[in-house]
Amino acid sequence: STIRIRDFHRHDELQELAVSFNQMLDRMQRYIDQQKEFVGDVSHELRTPVAVIEGHLSMLKRWGKDDPQILDESIDASLQEAKRMQHLIQEMLDLTRAEQINVQYPYAVTKVSEVLKRVVGDMSLVHKDFTIRLDMDDLPADTEIQIYQGHLEQLLVILIDNGVKYSTDRKEMNVSAGLSQDEVHIIVQDFGEGISKEEQGKIFNRFYRVDKARTREKGGNGLGLSIAQKLVTSYHGNISVDSVEGQGSQFIMVFPALSESQAKKLRQREEN
Ligand code: ADP
Repeated sequence: STIRIRDFHRHDELQELAVSFNQMLDRMQRYIDQQKEFVGDVSHELRTPVAVIEGHLSMLKRWGKDDPQILDESIDASLQEAKRMQHLIQEMLDLTRAEQINVQYPYAVTKVSEVLKRVVGDMSLVHKDFTIRLDMDDLPADTEIQIYQGHLEQLLVILIDNGVKYSTDRKEMNVSAGLSQDEVHIIVQDFGEGISKEEQGKIFNRFYRVDKARTREKGGNGLGLSIAQKLVTSYHGNISVDSVEGQGSQFIMVFPALSESQAKKLRQREEN
């Protein structure tokens, strides 16, 4: 009878193994599907700039030699498209890298107030016609979170740039940060065109733009927010949007705050 009981156990173990093997296969299949979808999206996005460049080159070949105006216009347009492609490729690289962040910077610690001050200062210089206010009244000056400093900068730049891009009359923005219940909240607010409830659920998807043609004019690829979301989640944070069409938007990032001892431990590990 002991043998039978042991066989029973074996049967259970085998079944467990089969289940976890199946789950692993499912995960792999999902991963492969996602990669295929990504390659499809990328090809689609690269098609437009390549088609524009091809169009201009054909025109140059046919008429450019005799027409200095066509020569000039086509060269400028091709250059602009090439730059756009460069930007797109950089953003796609950022997106794929954002998925492996924690492997790259597992022990990074950053003082939130320092980065906020620097980025808001820099962005005010870049966007001179905008007033960007910074409110850190509810943020103790030494508050730290687990993130590579360059990534917090990148996140703020993405959100502030968007606020600037999608504002029309009111050229103002508020950046605020606070600490409550061991969480750091960073809010980037604009008073621009806003995003409808329906679109709010889609803007974090890669390559998604509310108005494709218009956004393209502004140089957007629909990747900024997907990069932001990947980055934030890989640091155990969360990003969300709160917006009213025609009134403006708020993008809210939440990160777990580090206690002094947690920050110290991470720093020690980083040194080793
Ligand atoms: P893009 O590079 O095209 O701006 P994002 O991923 O950053 O791509 O944003 C996706 C879309 O979400 C944008 O095309 C725009 O339509 C909308 N959006 C993003 N930020 C804002 C904002 N602050 N106000 C209004 N719409 C926004």
